[in-house]
Amino acid sequence: MCAPDVLAAVGERLGRREFLKWGGAAAAAGILAGCGGSRASGAGVSLRVRNVQGLTHTLNSAFPIWPGFAPIQITNVRSFEKDGFFANTWQAPEHHGTHVDAPIHFGKGAWSADQIPDQALVSPVVLIHVHDRAESNPDTQVTVEDLRAWERQHGKIPEGAAVLMHSGWEARAGDINSFRNMDGKGTMHFPGFSKEAAEFLLKERTINGIGVDTLSLDHGASQDFAVHFGLLPANKWGIENLANLAKIPPAGATLFVGLPKVQGASGGTARILAVW
Ligand SMILES: [Zn+2]
Repeated sequence: MCAPDVLAAVGERLGRREFLKWGGAAAAAGILAGCGGSRASGAGVSLRVRNVQGLTHTLNSAFPIWPGFAPIQITNVRSFEKDGFFANTWQAPEHHGTHVDAPIHFGKGAWSADQIPDQALVSPVVLIHVHDRAESNPDTQVTVEDLRAWERQHGKIPEGAAVLMHSGWEARAGDINSFRNMDGKGTMHFPGFSKEAAEFLLKERTINGIGVDTLSLDHGASQDFAVHFGLLPANKWGIENLANLAKIPPAGATLFVGLPKVQGASGGTARILAVW
């Protein structure tokens, strides 16, 4: 009750420009302290929100999906004409559209979607660009050197980070064949994280999870799913089919993962936001 009212009140009092200049959340935080609120934070990150960027594709039954899975079916069950209100039911795999792989997806006994702590769903963003290489080599992977190059520019990968790969693959999302990029033998070709990069993030750094703008955390031609098997059993999450990564800064943003809290789920379609 308190927080939204106070945010609106603060915005009104300061005027929009001043409110944004001071950072809405930060400005409100001082006043929130008076009503039992606290400065918004996660993974040790303080928020000063000037920009909100959605990283989520619109999901429909045409969105590219992993081979062998049936896409979402949306069925209308209540209509204004008949019922006075509107509602649908969905039948969908957990792994369709912009979605989260919960640790239990590849880690028996690891966290299901509902067991992931809320704090692990708010993370400082580390954005790794590989789109230059991906243009000429769809099998390109995020390497340890890519991570070290990021650190030389921006400092050590922060604790609780979400390390995201931008390959430019979302430009293909309107065409399932182009997105899967399958060769004549049925092997897909798209970028992903390398096994070594995943190991580095697991052993040398402390992350919450990783994300990609392709169908899989592992590159398309992977046969062993080493990145999935390496990270997820250690209670790290993954996000696949991210959008709009070109619109966020390489460092300094905070990721919010809006993963539905479905009991026992191996993941789920999710609304992902970056703010900075
Ligand atoms: Zn998945």
